[in-house]
This record gives sequence, C-alpha cells and structure tokens, in this order.
Amino acid sequence: PVTARTLLDIGPGRTADGHRVELLANIGGPDPVPGVEGVGLVRTEFLFLGRSRPPTVREQQAAYREVLAPLVGRKVVVRTLDAGSDKPIPYAATGSALGIRGFRIARARPDLLRDQLEALARAAADTGATPWVMAPMITTATEAAAFATAAREHGLSTAGAMIEVPAAALRAGDIAAEVDFLSIGSNDLAQYTFAADRQLTDLADLLDPWQPALLDLIAHVATIPKPVSVCGEAAADPLLALVFAGMGIGALSMAPVSLPAVRTALAAHTLPQCRELAAAVRRATTPAEARATARRLAEEAG
Ligand code: PEP
Ligand code: MG
Repeated sequence: PVTARTLLDIGPGRTADGHRVELLANIGGPDPVPGVEGVGLVRTEFLFLGRSRPPTVREQQAAYREVLAPLVGRKVVVRTLDAGSDKPIPYAATGSALGIRGFRIARARPDLLRDQLEALARAAADTGATPWVMAPMITTATEAAAFATAAREHGLSTAGAMIEVPAAALRAGDIAAEVDFLSIGSNDLAQYTFAADRQLTDLADLLDPWQPALLDLIAHVATIPKPVSVCGEAAADPLLALVFAGMGIGALSMAPVSLPAVRTALAAHTLPQCRELAAAVRRATTPAEARATARRLAEEAG
C-alpha cells in the first residue's frame, strides 16, 4: 500500500528520455500529500455538503488555508463548487446531471462563486501560495470568459476550464482562448459523450476510458497550445497515461495511491514510444482492441 512515506519518494514524472509529465494528486479536503509534485484537483464540495446554508467567506478562507499551507511552492489547482445530481446541495439549486451543476450554479447563485473566489484569494494571500482555479462543467467559450473574468476580479490570475462536456471538447480552442489552462475531467466527459450515467455500473462498457470516441475528444483537446491536464480516473491507468503523454497531455492528476505505478510506466518509455502508442491506439475501433494494442506496444518498448 502507498503510505505517506512511500509518497515522499514519488518525485517528478518524466519519460525515459526526460520529457516532463507532471504527476499530480486529486484531493477532497486538506488531505496530507507529502512528496507529490503538486495537486491537480482540489474537490471543494467537502465544504458545502451536509449543511443547510453555504459556508461563509471566513469559514472557506480557513479551510483553503489548510489546503494551501502545505503546498506553498508547489502547483495546486482548486476547483470551484461542483455540486450536482450525485452531490445535491439544496441551497445551490442543483438539479439533474443535464441541469444545474458545476459552473451553472452561478446562474442562480452568483454569490456562491464570488464568495468562493474571494475566500480562495484571501487564503492565497495568507499562505503565500499561488493557486490555479478552475470551474467544472464549462460548456461554452462564453462561460469560460465569464469565469476567467470573475477569477481575475478577485486577484486570482490563473484561471482554467474543465473539459467535461463534448461541446467544450469540440470547441476547446475557443475555450482556451479565454482561460490559461484546460483540465479534462474524463469521468464526466465519458458520461456526457456516451449519454451513460456514470453511477450506473451496468453501463461500465460505455464508460470505459479506452472508448475510441472518448480518446478522439481527448486527443483533440491535447492539441491546444496551452497547458492541458487529465484529472479523471483515466489518468490513473498506467497504460493510458502513456497514451495521454503521447497525445501531448502535460499533466496527469489522480488519486495519490495511483501515482507510483504511473510514474514507473512513464519512466520506462520514451516520448517517441508514447507517441507511437497513441497513434496506434487511435486506429483501434473498440476499447478492447485499443487496450490490447497499447499493452503489446508498451511491452515491446519497455
Ligand atoms: C471528472 O469528471 O473526471 C472529474 C475529475 O471530476 P469529478 O469526478 O469530481 O466529477
Ligand atoms: Mg467531473
């Protein structure tokens, strides 16, 4: 098992020929993450769930301070509230998976977004950390622009959009023009691309991250000339991590327990090998074929 001690030894991610791929952790609160390069996704729902009214700016400021303090000098990406059908928050006016969720909460409750950005900016000032901030479920360039403007108004200079909706993936270039970075939420991108509820285990075959249509969308987003990361469960699959690196993804964020295996896989393959793997996988027409192709090429190379 991965303990705090083994995490101390993770070190930065790179391919065998020295190409950097940032390896970051997904966290859901002020979890201790010693030794990681940084945090690619702070899920902030922990602050909002199970209460009848939202946390105040002061309460949030204290919580973000706890998250940021151990990460000063490292990358940390904080995601604004992503309540929705799976994490309902009555005061946030959330609805179905196709309704009010993620950044859309700001339509009904712009005050929630403003308070969250203000609290994060204050916590950054308190700690000396320079968090990146990103919004979930961004669907259009108009939404991305509105979010980036709001973030900058609060003095948060690095704002990003999560790419979790096919419309956003198809128009990732327009969205990237409005923000500083993109982060692909492959869990939701799979859900919305395949019209398959991510909570239905019966539909696991459709939600398979090796589905060619999902990989097409990710490959397209990876071509955008701004920092692009993957922070869904797909990033934790060592073979897929090689594919993503080959597509040009610059950072992978995952549950900390998955970091050592992904780091080992990257270190055993060169960037040209990753590119070859990605190209071969893109020619596959089923998830099984994509996976088998990647496995065969990775074994031959590593
Ligand atoms: C995702 O959708 O892939 C993601 C990282 O966000 P969450 O799982 O919190 O919706
Ligand atoms: Mg998501």
